[in-house]
Formats: sequence, C-alpha cells, structure tokens
Amino acid sequence: MLNREMSEKFFKNKSKIKYSSYLSKNKHVIFLFHGVVPKHKFKIRNYIRKHIDVNRFKSIIRDLKFKGTAISMNEVTNIIQNKKVFPEFSYSITFDDGFENNLSLAAPILLESNIPFIIYVTTSFVEKQEMSWIDKIEYAVESTIYKKIKLPWDKKVYNINTIKNKKEILSSIRFFVKNSKDLDQNLVVIDIFKQLGIDKISKDKFLDSKISWRQISKYSNHDLISFGGHSHNHRILSHLSDDEIRFEISKCLDLLKSMGNINTYHFSYPEGLKNCYSKKVISILKKFEVKCCPTAISGLNSNNSDLFELKRISVV
Ligand SMILES: [Zn+2]
Repeated sequence: MLNREMSEKFFKNKSKIKYSSYLSKNKHVIFLFHGVVPKHKFKIRNYIRKHIDVNRFKSIIRDLKFKGTAISMNEVTNIIQNKKVFPEFSYSITFDDGFENNLSLAAPILLESNIPFIIYVTTSFVEKQEMSWIDKIEYAVESTIYKKIKLPWDKKVYNINTIKNKKEILSSIRFFVKNSKDLDQNLVVIDIFKQLGIDKISKDKFLDSKISWRQISKYSNHDLISFGGHSHNHRILSHLSDDEIRFEISKCLDLLKSMGNINTYHFSYPEGLKNCYSKKVISILKKFEVKCCPTAISGLNSNNSDLFELKRISVV
C-alpha cells in the first residue's frame, strides 16, 4: 500500500528536481505530464499533483529549452525505426488523458518556445466530457460532510475526518482498484458517492474539462501539436479480453479519425505500468497500425529501444 508520508516526501523531493538533470548526451528522455493548472487551491483534489502549477510548468520548460533539444514523437519513431542518432540532450513532451488545460494553459508556453508535444486522448472522456473514476472519488472525499467511509472490498470503517486520513484512504483506493482485475470502477464510484451523500459534481474548469472534438480538429494539421490514442474508456488493457482490447483501441482510433480529423500511429497505455500491458496488447495495437506506444515506466531511451516499451519520466 502507498504510504502517504512516503509519497508526500517523494513528491516534495521530486518537486525540487531539475528535470533537465535527466537529459543525457546519448539517451532520449520522454516527459509525461497530465495537466497544468493555475495556482493549487484544493485541500484534497490533485493531491498527487497530476496537474502541476502553471508557473512551475513554465520554469520546467524554460530549463529544458535552455539545456536540451525538443523533438516530436514522430521524430522519435523515425529515429528508432531507422536506427538514426538522437540529437544530443534530446527530449519529448507528452500529455496523457486529454485535459483541456493542455491546450489552454500548457500549449501557449510550449508553442512560444517552439517545442512540439503530443496529447494522448481518452476518447470517451472527450465524448461525454467525463471525469475519470479516481477524479470523481477525489471530488467526493473532498466535498463530503460525512466523516466515515466503508470500502466496498473490506468490512472496516475508516475515518475521513482529517486531510491526512482522507489522502490515506484515497491512496489505498487508488492502489486497490488499479490492481483488481475484476472490479468495476464505476460501481466503486456509485457506492462511494452514495455513502458520502454526493449526487452531483460541480466541475472545476481547469481540473475537469476535457479537450473537445472541435479543438482536436482545429489543431489536426498543426506543425507542433500531435494527438495519439489513450484507449476509449481508460481501462487497463492487460485486464481485458481480446475483444475488449480491440474495442478500446479501435473505437479510440476511429473516433479520433471521424470526429477529430486525426490519423495517428501514436498511442499510450492507460496507467502504463509493467502489469498494465502485455504481448497480446502490443500485437493488437500493431494490427491497428500503431507504431509507437510509450509506457509510464520510469527511465530513458536509446535508438535500440522497442517503440512499444519506451520509458517516460513523470513530472509531478
Ligand atoms: Zn491515463
């Protein structure tokens, strides 16, 4: 189980890191972002800093631009496929999930610096302007007036009367749900909302808005902005049957094409850790002509790396 103090210490240390220290003469670094928000204002929501403050984003990008060479994921694919050489101190910028703040807050900073980037889009989020299951649960735990919670998978009652124990319970929920193959995430949300007396969500403009089809199509031919798939429902692909994997990939790529005018060979695995994809998942991606699919496993890449095992550095 993720220990809150450990994880907070980790985030604190990581927020002091200069991300340019990952840049390397002969290796390629792919940075993984989710979102960028104005100054942090919640006690609970975004406590793992999936979305970083815009000023911090600005200084990270300034530092990377000064010390490194940004290349697109198209160039990464081309270099690896043709065994070319990465430019020295090269890096790429990627965003997972498809948050609107990628375009409204991050894009102006990146475009001003002439830095290419890719957004991997979860298409059902775009279709329904949907929040992920864990974003909904974070919202409920932040907003509730109730002080106790029972998790659907164990019989214990937990206190949620302090910020500390609210974060602890969220970390346990995150860990348990992500590692449970047969658990329906939507049912967990329904159960927790009922217990915590939440019947509707008042969305935050920056944390909750997803990119729209209109925006995707507007940027479909942009020199510096690319889009890739990130599944239709953000389900962990290795947990699914072959038919379900095919659906998650093809529905996502079809919608990007028909609604967003995007023909892409880029994809990224939902969650992206070692146990979240498999040989089977990769072979199905290849059938749908995907050529490049980075993971969320931490590390650097070379021109010998496998395009379906690329590592990334998460920025928090
Ligand atoms: Zn994701």
